[in-house]
Amino acid sequence: MNMDTLVSLCKRRGFVFQSSEIYGGTGSCWDYGPLGVELKNNIKRLWWRDHVQLRADMVGLDASILMHSAVWKASGHVDHFTDPMVDCRACQRRFRADKLDEAPWIHSCPAKKDTKFEVPGGEPCVHCGNRRTLCPECGKGQLTEPRQFNLMFRTFMGPVEEDAAVTYLRPETAQGIFVNFENVLQSMRLKLPFGIAQIGKAFRNEITPGNFIFRVRELEQMEIEYFVNPLDTVAGRPADEYWHEQWIEERRAWYRRYGIAAGNLRLREHGKDELSHYSKRTVDIEYRFPMGWSELEGIANRTDFDLKQHAKFSGKSLTYFDEERRTHVVPYVIEPSAGVDRSFLAFLADAYREEEVRGEKRVLLGLHPELAPVKIAVLPLLKKRDEIVARAKEIRTELARRWVTVYDDTAAIGRLYRRQDEVGTPFCVTVDVQTVGDPEKGEPGDDRVTIRERDSMEQIRVPVAELVRIFQELLGGQPWSSVVQRYPAQDRA
Ligand code: ATP
Repeated sequence: MNMDTLVSLCKRRGFVFQSSEIYGGTGSCWDYGPLGVELKNNIKRLWWRDHVQLRADMVGLDASILMHSAVWKASGHVDHFTDPMVDCRACQRRFRADKLDEAPWIHSCPAKKDTKFEVPGGEPCVHCGNRRTLCPECGKGQLTEPRQFNLMFRTFMGPVEEDAAVTYLRPETAQGIFVNFENVLQSMRLKLPFGIAQIGKAFRNEITPGNFIFRVRELEQMEIEYFVNPLDTVAGRPADEYWHEQWIEERRAWYRRYGIAAGNLRLREHGKDELSHYSKRTVDIEYRFPMGWSELEGIANRTDFDLKQHAKFSGKSLTYFDEERRTHVVPYVIEPSAGVDRSFLAFLADAYREEEVRGEKRVLLGLHPELAPVKIAVLPLLKKRDEIVARAKEIRTELARRWVTVYDDTAAIGRLYRRQDEVGTPFCVTVDVQTVGDPEKGEPGDDRVTIRERDSMEQIRVPVAELVRIFQELLGGQPWSSVVQRYPAQDRA
């Protein structure tokens, strides 16, 4: 499966659109359409439920995007949040120097009498030791030496555009948590270890955005700052190291729980030379995206760097009183930092399947039911029969009180099923002539409908009165096989 297939499915079926498309698009921003916003909300809801609501040691926060400009000096972003950038002298395009090397390049080697050959991505020429010097886009221009480019979007707070009013759109949600550490600690009377979670927008003026929603300039993050007592040991290890491992496993298991194949996830340890200025250790969870293995989430041990920096710059004490030891400590912090947009792309890519059913291609999004944008589609077998349409609409209204349920009568039933498969709807309910009966012939209806399950395409016929209970089970996590068994074989269509 390649990225183009996903991009086209996303556009065709209302998941993701190019931002400002009628004006030619921006190339780095995307809009989530009617189905996309449901999937995105589901990702955020599950993350919040699993990591905040179900845990006794976590609380939430929603800090503002615009913050005091001193925050970004204290955090190191003004000085360090940069990427190395190179320009092409011919076509003027800009590239991120550290990502340029990843693709293979054609090299005219001076050590080989200017013969041309391809050098694999990430490697210098084995003969002359040079790295790529020509533009990967136009192939002609020389590239400049790398310069550091700050990725923060600058803006002005208030009506006067002067230096004193300069601030930045936050490039990460984390700092909103650090500056509220004391507020949350005091108001919630928390004991270490505890975590503060936040979901929100962040902005990065990426030099080379791309790969669809993988690298965008306006992104959404799901971040946890998990504070631990640096004087504690757990299971024979320093508390920060123990909790770092716990969170790596917890977060990997979370992606697995909602359907991502184990073989498409891997951990990557940051080398000492690439660690951020605040990090003692960072491990990325990587996903096998259509363009190759890339970062899905970063899990860093930020030590006491941020709290100490903010204490220094603000003059406020940001410590925790360890009652047992009768001493103030600055907590260490473990930060699992995930991207909503990258998770969206990973869940979608992992769910995409093409199958052959009775000689025809079936495109299927095998999304976990909790992630699926639409849970149930109610479909009339014949849209010309008013009673069938009316009953189907009644059933939709009833189910929509509890789950995202749609009604569709714009095609024949086979086509309607395929459309729902393509957007990952786990269950279809079909209303037919038998359901409503035939008043002209004096035949009463049985008020039963067919439920079709997306993955197996199996169908069962069940009383309408039992639909809510059945979906409570199915959408509450019970397997289809356990529900199928309750209905006698002759009921199966
Ligand atoms: P990269 O090396 O890919 O630029 P990063 O290491 O700068 O990413 P972090 O600062 O660790 O990323 O951000 C945490 C998470 O936020 C990432 O794992 C990713 O899921 C998400 N993220 C960061 N930058 C972007 C972006 N430009 N577009 C989409 N998601 C992003």
